[in-house]
Amino acid sequence: MTTVDAPLVVGAAAGTVSAGSLVELRLDPAPTAMVWTEPGRPHDAVAVPSVRLAPGDLLVEVELATICGSDVHTTRGDRGAPTPLVLGHEQVGRVVAVGAGAVAVDGTPVVVGQRVVWSLTVSCGACATCGRGLPQKCERVRKYGHERLETGWELSGGFATHVHVRAGTAVVPVADDLDTALLAPVSCGTATAVAALDAASAIVPLGGGVDADAGAGAAAVAPVVVLVLGAGLIGLTVAALATDAGARVVVVDPDPARRTLAARFGAVATADPGAAPDAAESIDRALEVAGGAPLVAVEASGAPSAVASALTRLGVGGVAVLVGSVFPAPAVALDAESVVRRLVTVRGVHNYAPRHLVEAARFVERRHGAWPLAELVGDEVALADLDAGIERAASAGAVRVGVRPARR
Ligand SMILES: [Zn+2]
Ligand SMILES: [Zn+2]
Repeated sequence: MTTVDAPLVVGAAAGTVSAGSLVELRLDPAPTAMVWTEPGRPHDAVAVPSVRLAPGDLLVEVELATICGSDVHTTRGDRGAPTPLVLGHEQVGRVVAVGAGAVAVDGTPVVVGQRVVWSLTVSCGACATCGRGLPQKCERVRKYGHERLETGWELSGGFATHVHVRAGTAVVPVADDLDTALLAPVSCGTATAVAALDAASAIVPLGGGVDADAGAGAAAVAPVVVLVLGAGLIGLTVAALATDAGARVVVVDPDPARRTLAARFGAVATADPGAAPDAAESIDRALEVAGGAPLVAVEASGAPSAVASALTRLGVGGVAVLVGSVFPAPAVALDAESVVRRLVTVRGVHNYAPRHLVEAARFVERRHGAWPLAELVGDEVALADLDAGIERAASAGAVRVGVRPARR
């Protein structure tokens, strides 16, 4: 663990009216952040010897980060990013220094040594969007692993030895004794999966159940069929969560290995999106096995054909949750008449609210024995080998590649 040399608590910065105090840290050895500039150029390691924690801030030493699909898209140049920046937003770590009054999402004080995960976003808590319960879309939002490098917040991404976690972040203490590979993906993939199913179940209760409006004599409804498109970390997690909630899940992915994995995450049937309608591996056949038309479709791949499939296959009153479309892609045609006549709901889910992060952490802690969550992180690389790790993450194989800062 890094030694923190005599953390010095000094008075409020000159010119501020805040009554809070700043914590000045000199760290030896200095924390290192991997700075990304442009496609094709390797990361540069940058030392950050001093960190100033404002009230509510934390300094966390990263135990393990995982490479999210969006990191891969950014480094390929598939989508724009303000550079230079420190990528990475899925990680777990231990608190090494605490700013004045820093608290976890449940209001308890954060203490040095605590193991934590934290939200992808830093939110102000005061704007109209925060007030509407959408802190992930705060009008002043900052995102870990997404911001241009700036003086005073150099440690802004997970591909670093330490992350400077800022006030306004949802911090969730997590189990001390779990494998870090279970916990690192919680702050993006797992929490987004929870948010996707939360959005779906607001329209269609996943466990089926009886419609309250149907009266006391109504028969119990058959289990809901959930169609999941894309067997990445989000899709597989959705499969497990929906199965836990009593749904029957069909997972669609072109990769046979991913389909096999999906079956272990609860899918009662899997399908290849390229298979002919009458083929054994077709979506039609898989839905038949599962029990009919899906009332929930979660699109987690971002492929326009999969978005179309989610929209067209839903049964009456169904809901399509679009999660995967986080990079530019051709527009998808919408048959408005069909949406109207089937009473279909389309919801977009991007990132998540703090309650989803809490639920994601508890899901992993509770259910890692039931589902092969630990297998989602295959290879690991050292922080210095981040470029090789991203290359590996971009090729087929493991759902996530881990990045582990070297022991120092
Ligand atoms: Zn992500
Ligand atoms: Zn806000």
